[in-house]
Amino acid sequence: MTAAPITPDVTTVPRRLPESGPVNLVGLTREGLRQALLAIGTPEAQVRMRVGQIWQWIYHWGVRDFAAMTNLARDYRARLAEHFVIALPEVVARQVSADGTRKYLVRIAGGHEVETVYIPEEDRGTLCVSSQVGCTLTCSFCHTGTQKLVRNLTAGEIVGQVMLARDDLGEWPKPGVPKDETRLLSNIVLMGMGEPLYNFEAVRDAMRIVMDGEGIALSRRRITLSTSGVVPEIARCATEIGCLLAVSFHATTDAVRDRLVPINRRWNIATLLNALRDYPRLSNSERITFEYVMLKGVNDSDEDARRLVQLIAGIPAKINLIPFNPWPGAPYERSDWERIEAFADIVHKAGYASPIRTPRGEDIMAACGQLRSATERARKSRAEIAAEAGLG
Ligand code: SAH
Ligand code: SF4
Repeated sequence: MTAAPITPDVTTVPRRLPESGPVNLVGLTREGLRQALLAIGTPEAQVRMRVGQIWQWIYHWGVRDFAAMTNLARDYRARLAEHFVIALPEVVARQVSADGTRKYLVRIAGGHEVETVYIPEEDRGTLCVSSQVGCTLTCSFCHTGTQKLVRNLTAGEIVGQVMLARDDLGEWPKPGVPKDETRLLSNIVLMGMGEPLYNFEAVRDAMRIVMDGEGIALSRRRITLSTSGVVPEIARCATEIGCLLAVSFHATTDAVRDRLVPINRRWNIATLLNALRDYPRLSNSERITFEYVMLKGVNDSDEDARRLVQLIAGIPAKINLIPFNPWPGAPYERSDWERIEAFADIVHKAGYASPIRTPRGEDIMAACGQLRSATERARKSRAEIAAEAGLG
């Protein structure tokens, strides 16, 4: 007897077999989520609606348990729970600075650790998010630069940092409670560990999730990506993310920038400035932030200030002066306060806003450039750092 041919029900055949172990839905784009739902047999005709519902549960309400998704049928919820999880990286330590800054030590898959920092200010609350464990670059004044790149973070681990901070701040909306428009976490800066443009796709997907209007819904104007100057990715950042851009400029001659920001040897000041000139138009944003770390006797002279304003002429810009934040073994000192003010004054008189960034969370090593995971073993040697700084 020949068996009757089995006609597969096309609506329930998985498109793609789930990988081994449950798939984490956090970090999937809408399209990724659609594919995942199709793969567990969600009928094609329903999938759009299911994506919308589940998206809202995860990113608007902050729900982690499928059982709580009450607008889905009970057996569908059970099926979701069988195949998927809604998981965030684990917070292994949380420190609070005297100034209210919170630093989270976050453990990701593989046991690696990154840091995320929440900085409350009067008119906003900014979350400083990491994009890599360590960094391939070796900026000689940066603590993260002393740590080798361990790996890129996934989109889920990047958006997960935003979600765990919202958990800690108690900021998910509550059903029935009127929406509070003032947000504790109102801005994101990609200024934690790592070079975000060397992990472009994951950063882009994570930021698209954060900006999605049905979820966390932060405006692209409240997100700033900071790059050391990965020139080929700058235009993509404008067109595919559209967030604000900050660039770690830090020097006014190639000789000095080569030492401070070694990526300058690959894309020098002139090449970088060319890429930056196009950014405001491509991203439809007003201006670029030039970050400038103030290092005593290295890049902080009046001449530097004057060269800086000449270099950036024609680019809508704000100059953010960052007093150097020391870390153990750092080969630099912070410029004196009068020097920083004199520098700011020259830039200001040339017509640029030149705020001096107040170091935040220094007592818990949470200030700019102080992050690194103390537990990581993959360290660059002192000799490597000194060589990069041109001191070896
Ligand atoms: N990798 C990206 C983003 C992370 S760093 C970048 O380099 O732009 C965020 C900012 O802090 C950068 O401008 C960086 O140059 C600056 N920074 C690094 N170490 C610092 C330190 N010790 N003191 C002050 N600023 C520092
Ligand atoms: Fe990496 Fe940025 Fe630090 Fe340079 S300043 S080493 S690019 S994290």
